[in-house]
Amino acid sequence: MSYVITIDGPAGAGKSSVAKKLAAKLGIKYLDTGAIYRAIALILAKSEISPDNKDFLNEALSKIKIELVNNGVLVNGFDVTGEIRTPEVDALASLYSAIPEIRTALLSLQQDQKNYGSIIAEGRDVGSVVFPDAKLKFFITATPEARARRRYEQRIGQNQDADYDRILQAIKSRDEYDSNRKAAPLSIPDGAVYIDTSDMSEDEVINFILEHVKEALS
Ligand code: C5P
Repeated sequence: MSYVITIDGPAGAGKSSVAKKLAAKLGIKYLDTGAIYRAIALILAKSEISPDNKDFLNEALSKIKIELVNNGVLVNGFDVTGEIRTPEVDALASLYSAIPEIRTALLSLQQDQKNYGSIIAEGRDVGSVVFPDAKLKFFITATPEARARRRYEQRIGQNQDADYDRILQAIKSRDEYDSNRKAAPLSIPDGAVYIDTSDMSEDEVINFILEHVKEALS
């Protein structure tokens, strides 16, 4: 029988990498809900529709079609998978995802993914709002400094420009914004297993989660 596992947590906690590897180990689908918010923020910003422009926003939302394909994202048929991974889109996604109309418009796309088999979903509200009945829920976090250090090392490893202090500042302001918005703020879902990964390696996090999954599925 198919099942849903959710992983919520703040920016840079390592959710994506952990969720991707767990999905591969378990042979199930990985759902990156942040990519959906990034894609919608990118297209709305490009269309110069500001988050508070409610009239244009609703009309635009009715015309935007987002599709998830092979770990990529299409907006009205255009592949934006690469374009959504920039510091500018980090900030835009946080801004636009605070708008209730946008969250509502994207809910069924996320929920429908469970119709195609078992999934591991990762985001800010997947255990609380999108899949409240998930079989297993996790909340992964780490200190802002540990998260900024990982992002910094990730960018350097990809030969991108990186400034630790700016990354730390951006992480703190995204935390603040994502946690204090009215619509589906970042929070620890009821029943979630809380994991502070500040002093854990990625393999330790993966193995810890796998133990829980094996127990829940046995
Ligand atoms: O996880 P990622 O960093 O790609 O998410 C980008 C932004 O999208 C987050 O900072 C957050 O504002 C928003 N988001 C959200 N709800 C989700 C996933 C992401 O509000 N389930």
